[in-house]
Amino acid sequence: MNTIVCKFGGTSLADGNNIKRAADIVLSDPSRRYAVVSAPGRRFSEDVKVTDLLYACYKDSVEKGNCSEAFSKIRKRFRSIVDELGLSFDIEPVLDKTEEEIETYKSADFTASRGEYLNARIMAVLLGWEFVDAKDIIFFKENGTLDEKKSYPLIAEKLAEAKHAVVPGFYGTDAHGNIKTFSRGGSDISGSIVARAVNAALYENWTDVSGFLACDPRIVKNPERIGVISFKELRELSYMGANVLHAEAIFPVRKGDIPICIKNTFRPQDAGTLILPSKQYTPQGNIVTGIAGKKDFTVIFLEKSLMNSEIGFARKALSILEKEHINFEHMPSGIDTLSLVIESSYLKGGVLDKLIEEMKDALAPDYIRVLENIALVATVGHGMAKNVGTSARLFAALSEAGINVCMIDQGSSELNIIVGIDNADYEKCVRAVYHEFFEK
Ligand code: ASP
Repeated sequence: MNTIVCKFGGTSLADGNNIKRAADIVLSDPSRRYAVVSAPGRRFSEDVKVTDLLYACYKDSVEKGNCSEAFSKIRKRFRSIVDELGLSFDIEPVLDKTEEEIETYKSADFTASRGEYLNARIMAVLLGWEFVDAKDIIFFKENGTLDEKKSYPLIAEKLAEAKHAVVPGFYGTDAHGNIKTFSRGGSDISGSIVARAVNAALYENWTDVSGFLACDPRIVKNPERIGVISFKELRELSYMGANVLHAEAIFPVRKGDIPICIKNTFRPQDAGTLILPSKQYTPQGNIVTGIAGKKDFTVIFLEKSLMNSEIGFARKALSILEKEHINFEHMPSGIDTLSLVIESSYLKGGVLDKLIEEMKDALAPDYIRVLENIALVATVGHGMAKNVGTSARLFAALSEAGINVCMIDQGSSELNIIVGIDNADYEKCVRAVYHEFFEK
């Protein structure tokens, strides 16, 4: 039988009703053998996620020595979930122990992980499935990355023993035996790791939307839904801010050629978005699959005559960034010019001025200019490579909208074109590109 690993996100598990709905989905297909769960999310827009309540418990346990007041909110949430589900699961001793451990360990990661731990314990009782703790199967290396050699065989072995199992998302064990979490939203990564380890036929990611949209619905009203997308396209879009799925969640399943399906717990009848490995993907006929972007970048523009014949120029520029521990996003270049596109948050507190001084000293450019408040917009689609005139359409649309483009970068796979524009033109730019490729 083909195995499906299903992961349920925070809102899908926000209260007893939603957890029941998720459990019904799990049980409706016998191929769903393993479920990975997040902590309860927001029940309504002003509500606080359990993970955020837990970070408040951590803060109190460090600052005040105890977290009983903050933890009382956690107790209330989990008690009411167990009540709503009508479970004969005595959660009180588990909650008592959790509070005690939070106060003893005073670890942010341990504390934050308890939302997933408690929710998975509840889900396991509800489904009548085994609870397999992520701390016993997911391991990190000393440098903080996943210890694949240790984790994958262990997950496969432990889960093969259990016919069905619930695994808490978001955490594992570090090289010193302590609980360590992924970054926020990291249960998506846990689900992907489990899917890869058991060589699943499909990784289902159940959330509160019916998949990816072609662009941000806050900018364009009712944009088209993306039915099928390749891993590569998704990588480009999620890196640029399309955030239905954690940007790192595609890597484990991608290596195992396992498709991901984004589904809506509240509208399971919707097809959702199917994310396919390149081998299984055939272009869908659209030139552009999606548009995404981010604001607040800085461009450092360097000009020097005969730069192209000066060996080591780019290396020297990049080594200055490396020395200051600064990432760069893009590096468009010409024969006498080189631009470095950097997230502005890295350059605060005098860092930008320091970089400029160092670049003047080490590179002796003829001219150096800094553009701040730049937004990047990526237009992504495999269809772009095959269609003559795509970039002409893109730039004509931007010019018609009166948008000045200060930087252009095209990935070598012809999968995307990224433009740098003024922050103030960001929304206008997304609308113009969407209109050109989806509404004409
Ligand atoms: N509960 C964690 C968070 O709020 C992880 C997750 O939801 O995936 O970030």
